[in-house]
Amino acid sequence: MRTKRTSLEKFRLKRALDRLAAKEGRGTELVSMYVPPGRQISEVIAMLKQEHGTAANIKSDTTRKNVQDAIVKVMQRLKLFKKVPENGLVIFSGAIPQNGPGSERMETYPIIPPEPIQVYIYRCDSRFHIEYLQDFLKARETYGIIVIDSSATTFATLQGRRLEIVQGITSGVQGKHRAGGQSARRFERQREARLLNYFTRIGKHANDIFLPIPDLKGVIIGGPGPTKSDFEKGSHLHYTLKDKIIATLDTAYVGESGVEEVMERAPEIMRRVRYVEEKQIMQGFLYEIGHDTGLASYGESEVKRRLEEGAVKTLLLSEAINLVRVTVKCTSCEYVKQETMKTQEVIGFKQGVSEQTCPKCKASALHLAVVKDVIDELAELAEQVGTDVEVISIETEEGQMLKNSFGGIAAILRFKSPS
Ligand SMILES: [Zn+2]
Repeated sequence: MRTKRTSLEKFRLKRALDRLAAKEGRGTELVSMYVPPGRQISEVIAMLKQEHGTAANIKSDTTRKNVQDAIVKVMQRLKLFKKVPENGLVIFSGAIPQNGPGSERMETYPIIPPEPIQVYIYRCDSRFHIEYLQDFLKARETYGIIVIDSSATTFATLQGRRLEIVQGITSGVQGKHRAGGQSARRFERQREARLLNYFTRIGKHANDIFLPIPDLKGVIIGGPGPTKSDFEKGSHLHYTLKDKIIATLDTAYVGESGVEEVMERAPEIMRRVRYVEEKQIMQGFLYEIGHDTGLASYGESEVKRRLEEGAVKTLLLSEAINLVRVTVKCTSCEYVKQETMKTQEVIGFKQGVSEQTCPKCKASALHLAVVKDVIDELAELAEQVGTDVEVISIETEEGQMLKNSFGGIAAILRFKSPS
């Protein structure tokens, strides 16, 4: 199973959850259904039939009807699956007010989780319960943590919010103060030798613990005092691990408390790691632009054309692109028109369309057939031709440039334009 989450998958899930979070029912009438892998569809349907029966006792006519309709929609969706997908299945359904009270319309959203879900939940509330999916937005890669001081070292792994203390070792190094009668030089020599031996042991343990982890994203070293830096300077760690050190932190404590301190600061460090990646990707693009190599392209229509040619190596999309492509169709002739606009302009545009007549057959039969995010359209095209997609935040200067100077859509190319 693939454990690496691409920036695109993460972006899509985040956007879906953001939209669901914004929806609110008129009353307690929105259904959230989580089905974990391994359940029988028939078993879930039987449970829902029972809930449907129970809902018959709801006093308010509207609420009763809306709850029962939502349950029916969930059952209909479930029946489309022969079996529960291997990661499970989540269905949200309910009557959502479109424009004030009385304007409710049934909306149903099935989501296949990116990783297996564990919970089996039926819930009816005034909102959708998305919180069990939100965990998947957090970093899932594994990080190694080593907390070192002159007395002891603790090794841990961190995956998402799951922290595992793997091992602790003690140093066997004496304090800085020698016992009376001992020669100062001899004491120092002994201490040095023991410290070196301690560092070698730390390195060996770290190699044993972290090297077998296939998707280890980074190593964070922490600890009070200078011992951690002395360790880091030496070559006690395997070079691949040394290359993965992403931060060295001062902590107040050693041992498990020290590890917990590191964990508290880990999300910020991980975000920084992603920003560095984003900067590097963007700098790659800016290099091609700056050196006029012909291996960069930007702007929606140009990038789309190059994508269709199979010329794009990496597609760069700003998370701040807020554009949709709307397709207007006529129901009495074959007239079709496409237009690109900002998301918030769609409602006004829709109003305008319903008041216009078809330019071809003059009938009052125009309607908005499809509204699709430009990001999705380009990403789907990229996936069809095997192009990598990177969704770039606006948290870095380079990310701001992508949004402001290049319209949020850019590409690094495999080959120059044939023309
Ligand atoms: Zn027409």
